[in-house]
Amino acid sequence: MTTEYLDYTAARQTIPYEKAGQETCVTVTFMKLCGKAYSLTGDSVFLDQLETSFYNAFMGSLNEEHKHSKALLKTIDMSTIKESFLPFDSYAPLLPGARGTMAGGAQQFRDGTYYGCCACIGGAGVATFLDNVWQAETDCLTVNQYVNGAYGTDEFRVTVNTRYPAAGSISLQVCARNKNHTLKLRLPGWCKNYKLQSPIPYTLLDGYLVLNGPWTGEQTLALDLDMPVVAIYPMKWDKTTLFTTRNPDPTTSSLFIPTEVTYDDAQSHFVCFRRGPVMLALDERLGADPAGTFQPVVNDDGTVSCAENPAEYPQIAPKLSLLCPEASGSFPLIDFASAGKDWESKMAVWLATP
Ligand SMILES: [Zn+2]
Repeated sequence: MTTEYLDYTAARQTIPYEKAGQETCVTVTFMKLCGKAYSLTGDSVFLDQLETSFYNAFMGSLNEEHKHSKALLKTIDMSTIKESFLPFDSYAPLLPGARGTMAGGAQQFRDGTYYGCCACIGGAGVATFLDNVWQAETDCLTVNQYVNGAYGTDEFRVTVNTRYPAAGSISLQVCARNKNHTLKLRLPGWCKNYKLQSPIPYTLLDGYLVLNGPWTGEQTLALDLDMPVVAIYPMKWDKTTLFTTRNPDPTTSSLFIPTEVTYDDAQSHFVCFRRGPVMLALDERLGADPAGTFQPVVNDDGTVSCAENPAEYPQIAPKLSLLCPEASGSFPLIDFASAGKDWESKMAVWLATP
């Protein structure tokens, strides 16, 4: 897969690509597009996409360990750099590779500091996600993302308490003066089974649990979203034409040279894993080679019975740490956003299968 082209990327994720992929600028721009599309259509499918982008590609780009990219060291004379770091990484691998390989659009300022395109747009990613957490209309409050906090007005207020997305249990305390206020709770697209314990009745409509009251003072709801680990396989496709190679001849009308590509089964023997909105990854510091071959035990319904991993790893503090069963033994997985954060260790989302 490539950085930022419309090049059949979703279908071609397991095909090796020598340059860096998954640019943070693209992630943030996609999140903004999803937020706009949701506000125009009210279709929560766009919030599903926004959520997945935020918890995985975006959170993975946070430069929590204050690293320099290796490419930056090559292109800018470090002796002239005023020591600092960029807050967001630019690219992340899905196949075995490392983070921090390039700083997109890196430029040095006169005072010795430097910046890049992804570092500039990163802040908008936080804002775009938070802008879509909840939505208040006359007599209706919609909770779109499950983040700790209190939302609403004195008329109708909801306080959310949860470890989501590390867990699927969400407690909602409702404080209502307006007894006929509507509360809408988004049911994420990935969620196949849920339980809502509620003192008042609810209906499921267009991806939302809808509660119309009557509310009486303070009441508590408990929403439990079932979050099994599920196995995901590469898409099957036929052939397509890509327009990603620039035409060196400026006199022609076509800016790009068409390249035909065809599905190759040998490049599709991979599997990856998702738990709720969170993609899982293997970081080599967990003690297994992300470029190895794995034989996970997948249940008939596509779920995987992963166990919590009790092991402690001195250099990683993952939000999720699981053991994926194999016919004999198991291999470790952590949340993608926590993997490879030292910008050196090899990591992968897609793992090769026989
Ligand atoms: Zn960028």
